[in-house]
Amino acid sequence: MKRLTILGSTGSIGRNALDIISHHRDQFRVVVLTAGCNIDLLEKQIKFFSPEVVAVADEVAAKELQKRIGKHHAPHVLSGAHGVAEAASYGDSDFVLSAIVGAAGLVPTITAIRSKKTIGLANKEALVMAGKVMTDEAKKYGVRILPVDSEHSAVLQCIERHRESDVRRIILTASGGAFAGKSLDELNNVTPEDALKHPNWSMGKKITIDSATLMNKGLEVIEAHYLFGIEPERIDVLIHPQSIVHSIVEFNDRSCIAQLSLPDMKGPIAYALSYPERLDDVIQGLDLDKIESLTFKKPDHECFPCLSYAYMALKADGTMPSVLNAANEVAVDAFLKGMLRFTEIPLVIRKTIDQHVVSSHTGIDDVIEADRWARKKAEEVIKSLKS
Ligand code: NAD
Ligand code: MG
Repeated sequence: MKRLTILGSTGSIGRNALDIISHHRDQFRVVVLTAGCNIDLLEKQIKFFSPEVVAVADEVAAKELQKRIGKHHAPHVLSGAHGVAEAASYGDSDFVLSAIVGAAGLVPTITAIRSKKTIGLANKEALVMAGKVMTDEAKKYGVRILPVDSEHSAVLQCIERHRESDVRRIILTASGGAFAGKSLDELNNVTPEDALKHPNWSMGKKITIDSATLMNKGLEVIEAHYLFGIEPERIDVLIHPQSIVHSIVEFNDRSCIAQLSLPDMKGPIAYALSYPERLDDVIQGLDLDKIESLTFKKPDHECFPCLSYAYMALKADGTMPSVLNAANEVAVDAFLKGMLRFTEIPLVIRKTIDQHVVSSHTGIDDVIEADRWARKKAEEVIKSLKS
């Protein structure tokens, strides 16, 4: 029986994971759940899964939850950011699904690694910010980081049982998001509602906007670099609107291996949860004869410059990926609140990274400090754009 911690259990990834687990309760036991503030859903999850510990980041919501479930009954309720981190290290769990969105997932994920838990990593922002620390700590503590992101799960499935030295390059596929094929003029007037209509995937708001700007793919290039130890020059991106081929690995003999399935995050989540085995019938089967065509084309860097900024940040190294990520989080948040145009998201990121003096120190405190600096700077840039 695998004992599981789900960080971000009320989110899109968290809910999909719990759905899989509910059909395999002979193999998985949920011992820890954490959420940001949605205690209505968390309360339902507690009733169904009876975890031993829960944590709620919002202190007021945590108190309300404690009141609702009473003091003398399990689970133990922790609160605040430190409570979420404590829950991530809870002793009696073997596997931590890291599915908090954004930089808030960094400390809990590092804490889980230091507590020697196997990590199922959905929270790509943590790895983007602190790729070196996370991979070094994972090595030091003998911890495996299993990707949950569909592209990286695909790469893992293609690359396994091959020698690292036989890999020529990785091709990450991207759906292109809500606005693939649009001109700069058209992009100028799109609304958050338009951007949230992803053609193939149903996901949380932040990643859906990241898909529309192509920053999601940029973050995934950095994620692939750290997960598979492959230099940026050997990681390519192709737009594949059907989202059937989830990524491709090309080997030195020029043979390619790809992973195919319908776009459903339950596939990669289940692969990480049950690794190295596979569960039966997790997602609907793929009828290739019903799919008319599979197409691939190069990304449009002019309309969607965020992808190039991610390559730039990865090459600059040090604290720059953390700055890229923080500026993006601030810009996406402002766009969702109607305070920024869609085309201003890359502008805010560019102006922020251009002002950053890279530090080669990449300890956890350094990347958190760079994140703080970038948030302040990005807010200033937004103010200057609006004045
Ligand atoms: P979401 O917004 O649906 O859920 C986020 C979860 O994090 C929620 O449980 C929320 O309560 C929690 N949370 C938010 N802020 C928090 C805070 N400050 N402290 C503690 N918890 C907090 O997001 P999602 O779409 O499920 O994405 C989660 C992560 O997985 C992201 O990093 C995303 O990039 C990655 N990912 C998601 C998908 C997908 O299909 N949704 C696919 C690939 C990767
Ligand atoms: Mg992905």
